[in-house]
Amino acid sequence: MSEQKISTKCLHAGYRPENGEPRNIPIIQSTTFRYGTSEDMGKLFDLEASGYFYTRLQNPTNDRVAAKICALEGGSAAMLTSSGQAASFYSVFNICSCGDHVVACSAIYGGTYNLFAVTMKRMGIEFTFVEPDCTREELDAAFRPNTKAVFGETIANPALTVLDFEKFSSAAHAHGVPLIVDNTFATPVNCRPFEHGADIVIHSTTKYMDGHANAVGGAIVDSGKFDWTRWPDKFPGLCTPDESYHGVTYTQRFGLEGAYITKATAQLMRDFGSIPAPMNAYLLNVGLETLPLRMARHCENALAVAQYLQKHEKVAWVKFPGLPGDSCYELARKYLPKGTCGVVSFGVKGGRAKAEAFMAGLELASIATHVADAKTCVLHPASATHRQMNDEELRAAGVAPDLVRFSVGLEDISDILADLDKALAGV
Ligand SMILES: *Cc1c(COP(=O)(O)O)cnc(C)c1O
Repeated sequence: MSEQKISTKCLHAGYRPENGEPRNIPIIQSTTFRYGTSEDMGKLFDLEASGYFYTRLQNPTNDRVAAKICALEGGSAAMLTSSGQAASFYSVFNICSCGDHVVACSAIYGGTYNLFAVTMKRMGIEFTFVEPDCTREELDAAFRPNTKAVFGETIANPALTVLDFEKFSSAAHAHGVPLIVDNTFATPVNCRPFEHGADIVIHSTTKYMDGHANAVGGAIVDSGKFDWTRWPDKFPGLCTPDESYHGVTYTQRFGLEGAYITKATAQLMRDFGSIPAPMNAYLLNVGLETLPLRMARHCENALAVAQYLQKHEKVAWVKFPGLPGDSCYELARKYLPKGTCGVVSFGVKGGRAKAEAFMAGLELASIATHVADAKTCVLHPASATHRQMNDEELRAAGVAPDLVRFSVGLEDISDILADLDKALAGV
């Protein structure tokens, strides 16, 4: 059979029931799995046989959902994590230790920025942040002999800039390190980073993949293409024996296709334990089944909202990469031709006070610290997540005092626009 299209994979990849087996991925809500002899179990611990023994390491429900996400991204191996934060941390920590360095795009999720700039810094891993529109020379200058990875987001949350894949992947590869991309906002429906030079993809599945705001989760996918063995000194964790696992050398035993994810599971998941509950993996899978339908509608509605706002006299500015004239419109056309995402940010004329008045006038859109789910929601960072900052501090953090982040849902567009109309009229 020819390669299936993404809508088909969203329904069928990762699990195919045999005669009489459940049509849906079964929820194996069990911590442990039984074996007949100690010898049978010993082989699993030695990574000599594959099989389930403890859900912290592997669980059939979680694995089937991971296999689906792997197929959607076109990767060689994948794993689920209990949150997007855990996925970001593991993806970098799997190839970095104390004394190492990472180049990251500065336009990234605030939680990821904190993780990198504060928490991982305390672990002795240093990050250099580069502007998304830096020149190739500026990007090259950020690398050091101990640089182990480059990190960026396909569509940055909340900056809504689009990653220049060609620039970031060619620089990463010229310096012998992989490009790790957070593909949360685009999803594999709108962008498959491996086709544009990324080596590792991560997700906060909490957002569009789950799509219904019911389970926090994350995923890591490996392309299987990055050749760690060309730089064994740089990636000793993958290319030399792991003393904590009977001296296994991951690249030797599991090949380029399996080394990175096996190490992340056998070592990081074993030691840090951020696994999703099988029930949450099940809920994620329900969301994945309709992802292509939902993404198309999110994008269509968001474009209509962006166009409406652009013409509104009380709106100072609009940022949406799918909007012609946006600073990232050309990059979006190149890497996201089917659509970008459902999040639009804009400024209400009159600054912080007017933005707050606008928010108070909304009825359909709920004020929530969330984005990218079925129901329209909205956040004014200056009066919520960033409320301790004054206008000057906000600007330094790249958040305008008047910025409203509007996550366009799946409601009928006329109702969403009517809600905006009423709220803006009251400002
Ligand atoms: C939300 C988000 C994260 C963090 O994910 P959690 O599931 O909330 O831990 C990481 N990256 C991006 C782009 C996000 O939007």
